[in-house]
Amino acid sequence: MRGSRLALAIVIVALVAAFFAAGGQRYLSFDTVKAQQGALLDYYASHAWQTALGFFGVYVAVTGLSLPGAALMTLVAGAIFGLAWGTVIVSFASSIGATLAFLASRFLLRDWVQRRFGHALRALNEGIEREGAFYLFTLRLIPAVPFFVINLAMGLTPMRAPTFYWVSQVGMLAGTIVYVNAGTQLGAIESPSGILSPGLLGAFVLLGLFPLLAKKTLDLVKARRAFARWKRPARFERNLVVIGAGSAGLVSAYIAAAVRARVTLIEKHRMGGDCLNTGCVPSKALIKSARVLSEIRRAPQYGLKSASVEFDFADVMERVQRVVRTVEPHDSAARYTELGVECMQGEATIVSPWEVEVRLAGGETRRLSTRAIVIAAGARPFVPPIPGIEEVGWLTSDTVWGLRELPRRLVVLGGGPIGCELAQCFARFGSKVTQVEMLSRIMAREDPEISEMVMKKFREEGVEVLVGHKAKSFGIENGEKFMLVEHAGGEARIAFDALLCAVGRVANTEGYGLEALGVPVTRQRTVQTNEFLQTPYPNIYVCGDVAGPYQFTHTAAHQAWYAAVNALFGSLWKFRADYSVIPWATFTDPEVARVGLNETEARERGVRYEVSTYGMDDLDRAIADEEAYGVVKVLTVPGKDRILGVTIVGAHAGDLIAEFVTAMRHGLGLNKILGTIHIYPTLAEANKYAAGVWKRAHAPQRLLSALERLHAWMRG
Ligand SMILES: Cc1cc2nc3c(=O)[nH]c(=O)nc-3n(C[C@H](O)[C@H](O)[C@H](O)COP(=O)(O)OP(=O)(O)OC[C@H]3O[C@@H](n4cnc5c(N)ncnc54)[C@H](O)[C@@H]3O)c2cc1C
Repeated sequence: MRGSRLALAIVIVALVAAFFAAGGQRYLSFDTVKAQQGALLDYYASHAWQTALGFFGVYVAVTGLSLPGAALMTLVAGAIFGLAWGTVIVSFASSIGATLAFLASRFLLRDWVQRRFGHALRALNEGIEREGAFYLFTLRLIPAVPFFVINLAMGLTPMRAPTFYWVSQVGMLAGTIVYVNAGTQLGAIESPSGILSPGLLGAFVLLGLFPLLAKKTLDLVKARRAFARWKRPARFERNLVVIGAGSAGLVSAYIAAAVRARVTLIEKHRMGGDCLNTGCVPSKALIKSARVLSEIRRAPQYGLKSASVEFDFADVMERVQRVVRTVEPHDSAARYTELGVECMQGEATIVSPWEVEVRLAGGETRRLSTRAIVIAAGARPFVPPIPGIEEVGWLTSDTVWGLRELPRRLVVLGGGPIGCELAQCFARFGSKVTQVEMLSRIMAREDPEISEMVMKKFREEGVEVLVGHKAKSFGIENGEKFMLVEHAGGEARIAFDALLCAVGRVANTEGYGLEALGVPVTRQRTVQTNEFLQTPYPNIYVCGDVAGPYQFTHTAAHQAWYAAVNALFGSLWKFRADYSVIPWATFTDPEVARVGLNETEARERGVRYEVSTYGMDDLDRAIADEEAYGVVKVLTVPGKDRILGVTIVGAHAGDLIAEFVTAMRHGLGLNKILGTIHIYPTLAEANKYAAGVWKRAHAPQRLLSALERLHAWMRG
């Protein structure tokens, strides 16, 4: 296989080299073609079949070898053979040549590319498997994407060769006709001033408009296909209906009201959704109480002889609810009504692409008609179907807030952000916490040494962290709950009083009409959208946890802007959701914050990088605060100060990362951070010192040696 690959590569390189060595590009130039136009037409008049076959063969070779000149040859086909025959010849020759190039690229490069960049290409591969024919058709219709690039790139994807051939042939037909038609006019040009002939101008105007028309037509065809079986109301009562009043839904409704659209926001449970009621707000309130407790216990570290604290867990949980109640007005129906949003308490079901039925809290049902819909239905905790779990019962991030009694022994299933935040909290309050993670480390999205830093702290604080342990079953024996876990081929038994399931959150995609509409879900079980957050129904958009790929409040709000603006103004202009710089933080102690790539991801994606790290144990303020633990780790492009990604571990990492988020968002490099005054003594200085580490590693050594010599000379 390797030998035949090499042989084919040599043949292709030799043919391409021969083409250029023989001055092939000169023959395929406009001037040569014009000069030879008469001779070509004469030859065609006397040898019609030979000319056609010869032209066909050359066209296949040019396109198969990805040589420059296919577009010119298409014009020539029009000039020699006329519109009908020119189109037939070019259509088949270009499709065959394209398929040869596709096969060559596949044979020579696909395995290597998929091996090396498989991770980065996963989404693309999935897209091609799902809708490859449509993607290709669109690309073929739009002559702006170079022909040879499409052939070679598609060869690297999982698309089947027969599909590639027929889609290419059909997709290129319209463009071919336009080019060949332009060629027929080109043949009629006798002087340069002839270029301005109305016919040629018309042909090129058509060429220019074609991509736009093609795209619009395709969008219309797709929309018609989606809408075909539904009856469109004659008029709409609303511009937008938003389903779900969590972070994503609230922001969507707010934006719609701000631009004076008539918008209705429907919430079946509690305004504010997950973030306010069961997510960010209560968890951060609980973390704060646990942190205060931990600080008090660390009194001797601060030079205080002793400090003691008494607390009732129920009071702590009541405080959490008080915090939620204090924040609640920000997300309340009253506030949003004042902002111009119609708020409805009830369960929404999409009954047609333009109609939403609401089962109101009182039991009555209302049907709302709307031009557009934003789905912001969120996600819920996933509870794995492990044998016996029903018998022992479980808590999740939805229900844990109802606890008023501290569990003596708590098992936290899951080593992700939610599991880690809550495991540490409960341990600080005094539960004996066992955290069980199937993977080899907790916080598996972060680099191994980052996970290690958090795990070390957890263990120091008494959390029993069991990594590489898989929950096998649950049961109750003599009134005691237990869990069986598999580890390194063996089995262990863990007794507990309460189980907290934190193994991930699954998008809410069922039970409100998506099934009947036929809106597909992804492998990750989120609602499938395009880059505009649009479902196959062009007026139905999705944002927040239900859309993925991120599950954060700030990404939900970010997506909500795109969903609302596209839903309201998409017929004029649509915006692609921009995920280029997405930060996040896990609020453990130490906090872990990240933006952009970490080392693991850079390696997986084949991105070259350099690392600069600055240890928090060196920072004056961190030392003064007894927080001298953690790191600022910056990945940059080799030899440049351009930031690829940053991970910060330490106190207030979630706040510190903001400087790097701004830098990455606005293309500022480490030199700019180094050149910015940071207040002394602050934790934020760590960012500047990390930039300093990078700078020292890139100091101009030759210049410094020259300066050393200069100074020596000046000393005399
Ligand atoms: C414990 C925990 C801690 C977290 N901490 C953070 C953090 O620190 N930072 C961070 O950025 N993110 C955090 N998150 C994640 C964050 O809470 C979510 O990403 C965010 O709330 C998602 O918002 P959303 O609007 O997409 O969904 P949700 O907030 O879930 O809102 C969806 C709403 O839709 C409603 N709904 C669903 N179906 C219907 C229907 N048919 N009709 C009417 N209403 C419907 C639901 O009742 C719900 O209120 C945390 C999550 C958890 C669980």
